[in-house]
Amino acid sequence: MAVSIGELPPLGEVPETMFAQTVRAGRFGDPRTAFGVEQVPVPALAPGQVLVAVMAAGINYNNVWAARGIPIDVIAERQRRGEPWDFHVGGSDAAGIVYAVGAGVTGVSLGDQVVVHHGWWDQDDPWVTAGRDPMLAPSAKIWGYNTNFGSFGQFAVVQAHQCMPKAPHLTWEQAAAPTLVGTTAYRMLHGWAGHTLESGDVVLIWGGSGGLGVQAIQLVKAAGGVPVAVVSDGARGEYCLKYGAKGYLNRKEFTHWGIPPHWTDAGGQRSWSKEARRFRDALYEVVGERQAPRLVIEHPGEATIPTSVFICAPGGMVVICAGTTGYSATVDLRYQWVFQKRLQGSHGSNDEQAYAYNDLVRQGAIDPALGEVLPFADIGRAHYEMGEGIEVFGNRVALVGAPHAGLGRADEIGRTAQ
Ligand code: NAP
Repeated sequence: MAVSIGELPPLGEVPETMFAQTVRAGRFGDPRTAFGVEQVPVPALAPGQVLVAVMAAGINYNNVWAARGIPIDVIAERQRRGEPWDFHVGGSDAAGIVYAVGAGVTGVSLGDQVVVHHGWWDQDDPWVTAGRDPMLAPSAKIWGYNTNFGSFGQFAVVQAHQCMPKAPHLTWEQAAAPTLVGTTAYRMLHGWAGHTLESGDVVLIWGGSGGLGVQAIQLVKAAGGVPVAVVSDGARGEYCLKYGAKGYLNRKEFTHWGIPPHWTDAGGQRSWSKEARRFRDALYEVVGERQAPRLVIEHPGEATIPTSVFICAPGGMVVICAGTTGYSATVDLRYQWVFQKRLQGSHGSNDEQAYAYNDLVRQGAIDPALGEVLPFADIGRAHYEMGEGIEVFGNRVALVGAPHAGLGRADEIGRTAQ
């Protein structure tokens, strides 16, 4: 028998079924109707896996895509790999308590209070066993998006290496907020040799008040860099300042977004360049000198890539982890080769990067930037609002096992891992 949302069974007692917010193919589309609460089986653990009783679950953009069924149908993709489930339990951020461990698990024990990072890969993947970056392995996946039984159910299935100690000073909802976006931002800033963040670097951060943006701002500041945010209104800009941005640019004051006029259209190119230079001058004003960003943190994609490549310092890097506004971005190769810039894709994080990020959270150097805390029932609504760009302040979290804002009764059940 499943227990109610907001409750936990005694430690180590795993019910046969649980409540989960599922997505099914017949409901793909608007996340408000794509998600639905139902009872599903609690799956058996494979070797190396851990069952986490989810106290709180972070909301991320990847399950906006899963709910819409684009760019991929995550359920069909898994069924092609031989998995039986015809539903998707998403959710790539969790804070919770270890309730069961599979065969061969070491370093993770019953009752550990953990946060979960979203990198998933086969332990016996030859790329991984050779000691290479597992996020580049053929078997690399995003937990709670490419894999089933993420954090939008009462029990989540994770790999042991994903479990990191929860910061003791954070509530469940605070702890569940930042890991996916924070670890992604950490890899973008520190993961690409030749272009790792250095003290004094100016970093331009698109969507500064959003989940990824507010973590990037703090990480840049913590490393002695100069974070400059781009936002779409003053309130979002002020939010970025609170988390350490040197200043912000309001993208609504510029008009050159999207694919620029073709290079054979000299007049169109002139107007585009004029506006892009105006944007660059506004950035110099924020920085206080004519210093271009050595790193640009990209995710809007089609709307902004031409500007990112233009504005990036010679020899600098535009590092991108999404294409929220579209995938058909154009790059003016003249800026690329003459000024020897790098356009780098980045996805998720490996264990080393995730743990390095989590250590900063545990030390209190990075604030989780908790946004709205919502009830389990509102997970569909929260994804709809995220997809529409409504209320973009930090990271939203749904309560699952945690009964109310605060530390919750599971503190009496679990223990903080050291
Ligand atoms: P979010 O909290 O919803 O923030 C998105 C931000 O994008 C908003 O702050 C918004 O800021 C900005 N934005 C919206 N439309 C824009 C436009 N036309 N031009 C420029 N900026 C625009 O989302 P998030 O959690 O930060 O995630 C951002 C993206 O990164 C998503 O697509 C997500 O899937 C992706 N992501 C990828 C990974 C990975 O591992 N690959 C990991 C985490 C996130 P303003 O409107 O204020 O400008």
